Amino acid sequence: MRHICVALTMTFFLGAVSAAQTPHQIAIRAGKLIDGKSEKPIENALIVIEGDKILSVTPGGTVPAGAEVIDLSKATVLPGFMDVHTHVLLQGDITSEEYDAQLLKESIPYRAILAARNAHIALSHGFTTIRDLETEGAMYADVDVKMAIANGEVPGPRMQVATRAMAPTGMYPLLGYSWELKVPTGVQYVDGTDGARKAVREQAMYGADWIKYYSDRRYHFEADGVLHSMVNFTDEEAKAIVDEAHRIGKKVAAHAIGSDGIAAALRAGVDTIEHGDGLTDALMDEMARRGIYWVPTITVGMYVAPGRGGNWQRMADLQRENFPKAVKKGVKIALGTDAGGFDWKVLNEAKEFEYYVQYGMTPMQAIRTGTSTAAELLGWSDKAGTIEAGKWADLVALSGDPLKDIKEVENVKFVMKGGVVYKNELR
Ligand SMILES: [Zn+2]
Repeated sequence: MRHICVALTMTFFLGAVSAAQTPHQIAIRAGKLIDGKSEKPIENALIVIEGDKILSVTPGGTVPAGAEVIDLSKATVLPGFMDVHTHVLLQGDITSEEYDAQLLKESIPYRAILAARNAHIALSHGFTTIRDLETEGAMYADVDVKMAIANGEVPGPRMQVATRAMAPTGMYPLLGYSWELKVPTGVQYVDGTDGARKAVREQAMYGADWIKYYSDRRYHFEADGVLHSMVNFTDEEAKAIVDEAHRIGKKVAAHAIGSDGIAAALRAGVDTIEHGDGLTDALMDEMARRGIYWVPTITVGMYVAPGRGGNWQRMADLQRENFPKAVKKGVKIALGTDAGGFDWKVLNEAKEFEYYVQYGMTPMQAIRTGTSTAAELLGWSDKAGTIEAGKWADLVALSGDPLKDIKEVENVKFVMKGGVVYKNELR
């Protein structure tokens, strides 16, 4: 009883003190501001931050009395970047040997330690938000990484997570081992419509924000020049996954590379198409009409193609052909890289912006894929993705101008997440 009384007194006392103080404010003087929504950058903007949120954004503007000033007057300030397709629990898997070794030789605790390291890398590259699209055999460890970041125990981006992902029995590695051995699987094997609904409920129970499933495998070009694939789930199973997820308020991401896999995922009613190499004109039209997002993950495609050989280069070429078509048709494109499919230490995820510009977007369009459009995909348009009053104070700064040279986004010098500065090389 005595302890409780002390605790209550303390709470009351601390509450009274903080209410009497003026809240801590930070004023950022931005030389050039790309706010994520305006067509043109705003010169000499003042961003006032209180707590973890943006209080105001004004051209020119006066610093409020008592505010801490951060001088970014020689820099370009942008919303924190967002990568909506990552795997923090994976360290690159050009070959199946690399993939198998991670699942067979590394414990999940060890992989979670590397995941925390990867999350830190992402944040230092300016990614203040990621959607992590399955743990590749590390069960629900993404939920733990997300929690440790949210609790301020380790630095990293805000996360939405997909946990284990789904494929039918035998349609996802590890495969090829003796039937006498019980080896881990990179996904949760799910069969039948009841099995699908149960798996969705189970993953949601353990913390999945998204449900991900593998729509296809075995990608191959046929005489029609179209990239085809083998579809994993029956339509009834895929529809059960999507229906159950939507029923309990979760959205669904489908790994879909071949045209058949993309078509099946669209029939099932998914919210995002991952990779989408085999998009045809008709499929793009349908996605544009229904507002379904395409997450192209070009960085990983370009990275694994030389090592994997086979069709992978031709698939990367097809992405390059399809990208400007999709832009023209008005398909919603959100930036996703598949980081983890490449080594986090080797490539900077921000390279994806550069590909989008190379493939026909303006730098401003490309920046939106990894800020405001990504926020929309995540259902966080009211909280993130632009620099404006009421949003989280998630922002980055570069010393160069990304509208002149998009490569500048790979050189983030300043990172703030939720009003806390994690990196500042512009002092
Ligand atoms: Zn992936």
